Formats: sequence, structure tokens, C-alpha cells
Amino acid sequence: MPFHQARWEEPLLWEIRTPIESKVDPIPGIPEPLLRKTPFRWPEPTELELARHFTRLSQMNFSIETGIYPLGSCTMKYNPRVGEVLARDLSMTAAHPAQPVSTVQGTLEMLYRLEEALGKITGLPNVSLQPAAGAHGEFTGLLVARAYFHKKGDPRTEVILPETAHGTNPASSSMAGFAPREIPSKDGCVDLRALSDAISHRTAVFMLTNPNTAGLFEEEVLEIADRVHAQRALLYYDGANMNAILGKTNPGKMGFDIAHLNLHKTFSTPHGGGGPGAAALCVTDALSGFLPVPRLVKEGRKFRWSYDHPDSIGKVRSFYGNVGMDLRAFAFIMAHGEDGLRRVSERSVLNSNYLAHRLGKLLPRPFKPLVKHEFLLSGLPLRERGLRTLDLAKRLLDEGVHAPTVYFPSLVEESLMVEPPETESKYSLDAYYSAMERSIKDTDENIHAAPRRLAVGRVDEVAAAKNLRLSWRDLRRTP
Ligand SMILES: *Cc1c(COP(=O)(O)O)cnc(C)c1O
Repeated sequence: MPFHQARWEEPLLWEIRTPIESKVDPIPGIPEPLLRKTPFRWPEPTELELARHFTRLSQMNFSIETGIYPLGSCTMKYNPRVGEVLARDLSMTAAHPAQPVSTVQGTLEMLYRLEEALGKITGLPNVSLQPAAGAHGEFTGLLVARAYFHKKGDPRTEVILPETAHGTNPASSSMAGFAPREIPSKDGCVDLRALSDAISHRTAVFMLTNPNTAGLFEEEVLEIADRVHAQRALLYYDGANMNAILGKTNPGKMGFDIAHLNLHKTFSTPHGGGGPGAAALCVTDALSGFLPVPRLVKEGRKFRWSYDHPDSIGKVRSFYGNVGMDLRAFAFIMAHGEDGLRRVSERSVLNSNYLAHRLGKLLPRPFKPLVKHEFLLSGLPLRERGLRTLDLAKRLLDEGVHAPTVYFPSLVEESLMVEPPETESKYSLDAYYSAMERSIKDTDENIHAAPRRLAVGRVDEVAAAKNLRLSWRDLRRTP
């Protein structure tokens, strides 16, 4: 499909017209040293100028509503508008978290029912909705594990991770005070020998994603659970992405003790580009007492917060988490029901296998052919043409679609990781195949020069990460 992204030379709001300097009358009682010395400067666009400004910026951007966004390990699915309508309802947006609980019983009931549903979905019935994102859920879960071993008088120092682990897993382990230790994989899955060699009385937790980031189901998971538990260690389920197993199996059945779910992946709710996240932390009965406070309790028909949990790790976030995200996830679960959630998984696994089968004709696929919700390709053959996976990813953008995740997981050279969730149709999967085919068959010169049809070309990603200029003031200060 011919595609050109809008390219506006869009000024900053400050540049649209001269900012108005307003003198603000000081609020009485503010101490003199804290008072503003210089006049306050506001950009003063009209409402129409403001609307145009943000609409134009959005035309220079990419979103799930622009095109397919099959970013492996990210589950970029369509977010039904009904979730947005509910979350924008005045009863949500105008509520203050410090309001008396008697005035927010409906919200508390929603949270309670969401906890129940997620307890059922994971098979781990004790749930906290406090964590603000997946990595925060991991961190919270690992603090729970640490508190558990501390209480037992058996402090342990290590977290073991497979090579396919998401980068947040070792980072969360370190932040929670453990030493992360990586073990090699075999054919894309956990190598049981390597696990047995690594595991010891120092091991607190083995963290696993299943299906893993290669899109493969760890079929030896019950054996893994036995070996971990034989060392009295805990098994952690990174359930950032549950898209392949909803209603089919669950972490509880697989022998896990702790799991976090990214509500903003599996259960819709917009994410990426800095949008808010929300994670649920789900644990076995043995670990329930260590979950963050406050916990939501039901007494008769009333709901209230309870702080009466002496073993709790305490609070990990202000108030009760991202309640607006929880509501979107609740709406998603209620709209689908048990059967619908099962079909979400069936459809996403079908999509993934269909696209894997087709794209497998263009690029080699490591490991076995049958996958779950995502799959890997290797861009290694492009090397003969002096091209890399990164070049292909940039060329794909010129087709008006998003590239897959690249260079992760690292166990495959020049990897591309594709995840086409259940909300994509056969039409859009076939269009993606064609976009990939055209990209690969394009001239080397064109691929090197891509992207040419976007608002911005290749950016210096290292400089962008290391040299942050996040505000207008920073920008003005830089020579
Ligand atoms: C996305 C993801 C995470 C991290 O979740 P955030 O919400 O981005 O912090 C962790 N593990 C896996 C497997 C993921 O896909």
C-alpha cells in the first residue's frame, strides 16, 4: 500500500505566538523564599491552534490504529473504545483516592471482582493490583520472595534466569537485592541440566516466562517446578504476556508460586509511548501475607482497605495502583467472559502460526515450527547483502506498518520477534507478509536509506538514550 507519513514543520506551542507574561498574585501564606521571582510565561494558543498542533503531531506518529504493530513480547492489541468510555466516566475521573471508602464502594467492588477474576485466570488466588507496570510487578514479587525467606530465617541471595528472560527480569532481581544468574538455553527452552547445575541452597527464585520469549511452550515446566521446589526455592512466572494460554492452562497449574500479569498487554488498555501501565501480582496462599498493603477486603456487602498484615512488604505505590487501567482490564475480561478469553488465546496462537508459516518462506526460523503467541525469525541471510535486521526493520516502516521487535531475545543472531495478537485479521496478516516481501526484495540501496516516507529518518538511538533533552528549556540550553 503506498504510504507517506505527514511531515509538518510543527513549531513548539511556545513558538506559535509570543508567550504572555503573567504576574500571578501570590497565594497568601507562602513563605517569601519560595515565591516566584520572575514573571510566569504561558504559551497562549487558541483552542483551534492547540487542536491543530496535537492533531498534526499525531499524524507524524504511529499507533495501533494506524497499522499493524506486531512487536514481539509487547502484545500491541487493539484497545476497545468501550474501555476508554468507562475510564473517562466522571465517576472515575472525578474520584479522589483519599475520599472516604463509603463513597467509592462501586470502584472497590470492581477492583475486588478484578482480583477474583485474575486469581482464577492465574490459579494463584491472592492478588495485589498495586504495581504500576510489569517490571514493577517483578520487583514487588521479588520483594515478597525476599520477605518470605527472611521470615523463614533462610535468607537467599540468587535469582536464576534463562537466556530468553526479558531484560527487566535481571534488573528487577538486582533492584530487589538478589544476584541474577543466567543459564543457557537448549533449542530455545530451559536446559534442565544447566538448571540443576545452577540451583542450590542460595537460590531464592527461578524466573520463567511460559510460553517463553522465543514463543515456545516450556513443556518440561512441571519437572522444572519439582527441581526448584526440591531446593525449597520459589518459581516465579513472568506473565507479562498471557495471550497464548488464557483459559487453557495457568501458572498455578504449572507449579508457579508467584506471577505478575501486565494488564496493559493481555487485557487491552493502551500502552507504549509512555502511557500508564498496571500489573497484578498473584501468589499462592503461603505467600499471601507478604503482599503489599492495603489489601482489599469484603465484609458482608461492604468493601474496605485493610492494613492489618504484619508480614506485608508495605506499600509499593501511592494509593491503590492505576485504577483507570484496572477498569479497562475489568471491562475487557467481563466483555469476553471465560469462553471469549479462551478464544482470544486460540486466535492469537492461530495468527502467530499462520504468519510464522508465511514469513518462514522469506527468512529462516529457528527452533521447532509450532509456536504460541509469537515467533522468531533471523535476518542473518541479509548479511550477504551487507544488510542487517535493523535495516529491514527501518525499511518495513516505509510500508506504513510497525517493525517487529529486533535483537531480542539474544539467543538468535539478528533476531526479529513477531507477535500478531488476536485483534489482527487475516487481511492484515497477509498485508504484513506482502510488506515484508516487498521490503526484502527492495534494492540494497533503498533498504539502507530507509525510512524515507516517515516524518523522521533514522535517529541516533544511542545519543537519544544517553543525551536526554526532555523539555523545551533543555533544548534551548543545548548549543
Ligand atoms: C513487557 C514485558 C515485561 C515488562 O513489562 P513493563 O510493563 O514494560 O515493565 C516483562 N517481561 C516480559 C516477558 C514482557 O514482555
